[in-house]
Amino acid sequence: MKDIPFHKPHITEEEIAGVVEALKSGWLTMGPQTLKFEEEFSHFLGSKHSISLNSCTAALHLALKVIGLDREDEVIVPTTTFTSTAEVVCYFGAKPVIVDVERDTHNIDVSCVERAITDRTRAIIPVHFAGQPCDMDEIMNIAEQRRLHVIEDAAHAIPAKYHDRYIGTIGDMTCFSFYATKTLTTGEGGMITTANDAWAERLRSIRQHGISKDAWKRYSKEGSWYYEVLEAGYKYNMTDIQASLGLAQLKKQQWMLDERNRIADKYTEAFKDSDFIGVPLIKPGRSSAWHLYIIKLNIEALRINRADFIEELKALGIGTSVHFIPLHRHPFYRETFACNEKDFPNAEWVYERSVSLPVYPGMTDSDIERVIDAVSGVALNNKR
Ligand SMILES: *Cc1c(COP(=O)(O)O)cnc(C)c1O
Repeated sequence: MKDIPFHKPHITEEEIAGVVEALKSGWLTMGPQTLKFEEEFSHFLGSKHSISLNSCTAALHLALKVIGLDREDEVIVPTTTFTSTAEVVCYFGAKPVIVDVERDTHNIDVSCVERAITDRTRAIIPVHFAGQPCDMDEIMNIAEQRRLHVIEDAAHAIPAKYHDRYIGTIGDMTCFSFYATKTLTTGEGGMITTANDAWAERLRSIRQHGISKDAWKRYSKEGSWYYEVLEAGYKYNMTDIQASLGLAQLKKQQWMLDERNRIADKYTEAFKDSDFIGVPLIKPGRSSAWHLYIIKLNIEALRINRADFIEELKALGIGTSVHFIPLHRHPFYRETFACNEKDFPNAEWVYERSVSLPVYPGMTDSDIERVIDAVSGVALNNKR
């Protein structure tokens, strides 16, 4: 029997044809396909502006740049996330203030956010963990009262809904990832959405060296050779090759979400009454993008720990992963910001128990059954 990998991107003839067309067009970097991808992305989410970039890390970086983040400033981030969310704060010599998450959703804990605010706080970066939206009403309220910016890390959240709005239409700026394992991929890539015209214009300039608007056109028929550099910018633009891949992926977003929903429902149905396996909780009024499906082991009821559980699944040909090693456990954050595990009781509890299961379009019913049987079997064989 073939192994079931943790993730497989859904690439069909459509993506391949799109990329080949971009290659044949003679225009390889940012150009017509990139603009089309931005337009269709905006149309899909209902966002005013979409600015494409070469990664979500670049998106987070530029979002902090346009709010004018300075050294000495503080930005509140959850500990249960990928390093990108916090490293971008360090680019400015500013301080990521790392806070705990909720046990049930693994999302940033709003009460911890409130306690972490100081006179130096400039922004909050909520991460819509695994694809489930954070408590956005509460976060936007706090931000308004304390005059803070909300920059959403939506690397997991295409497409996710908070009440009837898509993630990408709520905070000041929302940052998306099109990394190879994400729910919409361009290999590598990212996007910022915002309703702020001035920020959008500045983002379009600083993603390409700080060159005045529509710099890419200078190599096209409509363009001219003349341009002006307005500030020291970055080289963060997307390419038409990536955008062609993105356009094909965007067309089937709803179908891919339906597929992940189908898989998630089967897992939840299979494990919801288990004494050994905890299933994800989705709060009312939100729908998850199901970028990740994370079970939590009842380690008190098992003779083995999470690492051994993963090894046993691997021996059965089931690929899994762990999301994430909390920031406060990494040497850089622990040492630079004097993090103490005791300050993150929920994240510690979550981390010891979490196992991410395969959840991607293309998994057959028998694949899903195999994952369920393997997880249930390993649990039963190792019960206390
Ligand atoms: C993947 C990921 C990122 C980084 O995305 P890139 O496009 O690879 O830069 C940021 N935040 C979270 C939570 C992620 O999972």
